[in-house]
Amino acid sequence: MQSHILLLGPPGAGKGTQSTRLAETYDIQHVTTGDALRANKQMDITDLETKYDTPGEYMDAGELVPDTVVNTIVKEALSEADGYVLDGYPRNLEQARILDSMTELDYIIALEVPESDLLVRLTGRRVCPECSETYHTEFEPPAETGICTACGAELTQREDDTEETVKERLSVFAENTEPVIEYYDERNELTRVSGQGSPEEVFTRLTSVIEDDWLARV
Ligand code: ADP
Ligand code: ADP
Ligand code: ZN
Repeated sequence: MQSHILLLGPPGAGKGTQSTRLAETYDIQHVTTGDALRANKQMDITDLETKYDTPGEYMDAGELVPDTVVNTIVKEALSEADGYVLDGYPRNLEQARILDSMTELDYIIALEVPESDLLVRLTGRRVCPECSETYHTEFEPPAETGICTACGAELTQREDDTEETVKERLSVFAENTEPVIEYYDERNELTRVSGQGSPEEVFTRLTSVIEDDWLARV
């Protein structure tokens, strides 16, 4: 079963954490624009004559990277994937329309978490620069403080996980990405799932949405 899953939700909702698990469980690709852009932060985009010259400058300001850059990344990644869980895209209506023209989605799920929790999740997030594993100082601490349990590298904090940039990202979400959730909801394609509770609890909710629906379809 090669599903096409889209996971939506605000920054810090747990999209990355849950997508990693879904990709492993269903043996599908995890396609994430955030990681792809972080690997290309210094890419020269001066040809596009946009506000900044590199994706990294948008990211560090908490703003959206121009659509043309992101659309190209997603198009290439999806063309190489059979099944996938897509995370971090689409973030505005224009991207949602482009995605419609690229692929068909089987599951569109929005993770819902109260804004007060998001700030705590994001400012406590720590990431591994070597293997991309994600931790939280309080909610998902590594076995040894500051060290990646998976590979032993020293954990870092993302430059955009400061309180000020998080607030900007949350307002960009409300303005640009909330309408994407409404867009799918109006087409009756959206399932809302609570992102509160432990990562295990959230994962169980997600797999039951997906597997109940499999049963309904056969
Ligand atoms: P989070 O996981 O906290 O929601 P991401 O890692 O998905 O954050 O994204 C980090 C940054 O990368 C965003 O703030 C934005 O600058 C850029 N970015 C990621 N995905 C997109 C996208 N689909 N369109 C535009 N910019 C994006
Ligand atoms: P997103 O990709 O949506 O921005 P992440 O998966 O990176 O979100 O999670 C953001 C932070 O919250 C990380 O530090 C992660 O360890 C933590 N986290 C993820 N899921 C939960 C949860 N259910 N409860 C508490 N913290 C969580
Ligand atoms: Zn690691």
